[in-house]
Amino acid sequence: MKHLIFSDVHGNLEALEALLVQIQKERPDRIFFLGDAVGYGANPSECLHQIAEIADLVLAGNHDYAAAGLTSLEFFNPLARQAMLWTQSELLPDEKLYLASLPVIIHLPHLCLVHSSPREPKKWHYILTEQDAAENFPFFTSPICFIGHSHRVQIMLTDRAGNCWQSLDQSILLEEGYRYIINVGSVGQPRDYDPRGAYCIYEENSHKKRIQIYRFEYNISKTQHKIIQAGLPYPLAERLSFGI
Ligand code: ZN
Repeated sequence: MKHLIFSDVHGNLEALEALLVQIQKERPDRIFFLGDAVGYGANPSECLHQIAEIADLVLAGNHDYAAAGLTSLEFFNPLARQAMLWTQSELLPDEKLYLASLPVIIHLPHLCLVHSSPREPKKWHYILTEQDAAENFPFFTSPICFIGHSHRVQIMLTDRAGNCWQSLDQSILLEEGYRYIINVGSVGQPRDYDPRGAYCIYEENSHKKRIQIYRFEYNISKTQHKIIQAGLPYPLAERLSFGI
């Protein structure tokens, strides 16, 4: 069984279309999206429709809930807030209802999917440190939890003794007795100093389970041009060149 997991598209249609090319090559059995289809980028409607079409499971992120009026903008920084007001004005009522209907966490028998944190999925906490990860392992029972939200690829592990650490590998074989929190990074606005989009492949068969992070290029200048044309804040275009 081959799973493809991606997150944080944020209205970036060019990055999403480049991911679709990867999906055609990868031919996964199942596709999971971890939230934030909209916010920041110039094509929120197009992105949410494409994602709904390709993904077997779709979660909501904080920007999706904000667009639907379910999360206050009080914790958004000024640029994110400005972009969200624009996004709200672009989306149709049906599209907002669709975003409002999405879950923020899904517990499957062998894996957990959540946008922010399994501990309090609607509080939108970030899992950035080993300490953050350690606090979250007790809140799911499966061996693996896939997350997004920080826009940074990160692999965290814990052993039976409760030790917790970060792996810097982009490809790992899962081992018995360990549990994992995998941040799959962002398709549409990476913030780990690599401007390429990110996705994760999780393959399992009777012999082994393997997780691999992949990066892909897309037409960044086209996305930047659209952001500026839409009247969205200029720094939201500029940051895409740097992966910040
Ligand atoms: Zn996001």
